[in-house]
Amino acid sequence: MTFEHLGLSTDLLRAVALQGYTEPTPIQQQAIPAILQGQDVFASAQTGTGKTAGFTLPLLQLLNINPNHKHRHPRALILTPTRELADQVNESVKTYGKFLSLKTAVVYGGVSIGPQIQTLRRGVEILVATPGRLIDHLGQKTVDLSQVEILVLDECDRMLDMGFIRDIRRILAILPPSRQTLMFSATFSGEIQKLANTLLKSPTLIEVASRNTAASQVEQMVYPVDRSRKRELLSYMIGFHNWKQVLVFTRTKHGANRLAEQLAQDGLKTTAIHGNKSQAARTRALKDFKDGKVRVLVATDVASRGLDIDQLPHVVNFELPNVPEDYVHRIGRTGRAGKEGRAISLVCSDEYAFLKSIEQLLNQRIPQHVIAGYEPTSPGSRGTEQPQHQRANPVRGNRNHSQKQAPPTQSKKPKPVGNRDRKRLHTA
Ligand code: AMP
Repeated sequence: MTFEHLGLSTDLLRAVALQGYTEPTPIQQQAIPAILQGQDVFASAQTGTGKTAGFTLPLLQLLNINPNHKHRHPRALILTPTRELADQVNESVKTYGKFLSLKTAVVYGGVSIGPQIQTLRRGVEILVATPGRLIDHLGQKTVDLSQVEILVLDECDRMLDMGFIRDIRRILAILPPSRQTLMFSATFSGEIQKLANTLLKSPTLIEVASRNTAASQVEQMVYPVDRSRKRELLSYMIGFHNWKQVLVFTRTKHGANRLAEQLAQDGLKTTAIHGNKSQAARTRALKDFKDGKVRVLVATDVASRGLDIDQLPHVVNFELPNVPEDYVHRIGRTGRAGKEGRAISLVCSDEYAFLKSIEQLLNQRIPQHVIAGYEPTSPGSRGTEQPQHQRANPVRGNRNHSQKQAPPTQSKKPKPVGNRDRKRLHTA
């Protein structure tokens, strides 16, 4: 299967070739023809599957073959949960639309609204937006959505998690009902299904990675360790394995800052991104990380959403998320576009309930490895498996750590996770 088989125009094929893509990914193979035929689409696909090109390429083609010479108001609206994702989608629109003359713009909060108003006034055909800022523009009547022909809801589950449902419903209420709607979500919760039922007309269902399943090329591991020793173990692992680029997740903004400082003290070039950082600071941090100037990027779930980093080899859960779906999102940052990746979770005794929920969601057990010298003092693990690594000294310091097969640890039945526990305890 090649991109030529999908019915894309020469201008789009040229742009795709420039990116070096030789073969469409499974989601692209399914989504592109369906969207070109004007169908609504409900796709379950994580970041890393090539979903952005999967909706952007046909969207560009549809707008291009039905030109609207007035070019005043947006004809395609793409809603994303975060500014980072909005920027990335906008970049993709520009990249794939390089040989077309469709105007695109991005609007999100946290930056001044003035320049966005100017851009909208000049007229755009494709608008990428986060829901909150779009509502501001609607309130100020600086955007007119009456000409929208195609609506994309990207990372829909995350938009709902972030509490955007009311904003989304307000936006939906003013869009022309005759539009084509494309919904993308990494997970299918009841709420997502409900939204899809009210929004989509006879949609084409696309499910590439099976439902709620972590990308198969991601090797997952759990390292039981006491909370107080997690930072030391993480520094050791980064040094020992000589990881050059590692994305580390914490649950809170404060935790992200503190860990970044501690890792920096350990001599690792580290930076943190979270919701309290300015957009400029987040963009800079991401660029430094991508360019290899920063080795460790510590992020909260919200800040990391939609990070587009090619071939990220390692993702570390410094703390497990209390919402199991977040685990799937986090580890979706690695093992992307066919590359292998590794997702490592440092788990202390009070996180075993979270681990159990994650394993239930994935319907699989994640192998556990205890590292000698870091054996947890409190019980919690459900047993161990053969470690894969060899003995060695850490790169920094002379601590003489070694890894050995762990003694069987006491297993403790994790507490069931109730609704209250599942609620996001911290926001980022
Ligand atoms: P996405 O799932 O949209 O976040 O895309 C993940 C990554 O895959 C991005 O870095 C894209 O540039 C890349 N990508 C998208 N489509 C292809 C393709 N057909 N072949 C290779 N890489 C691709």
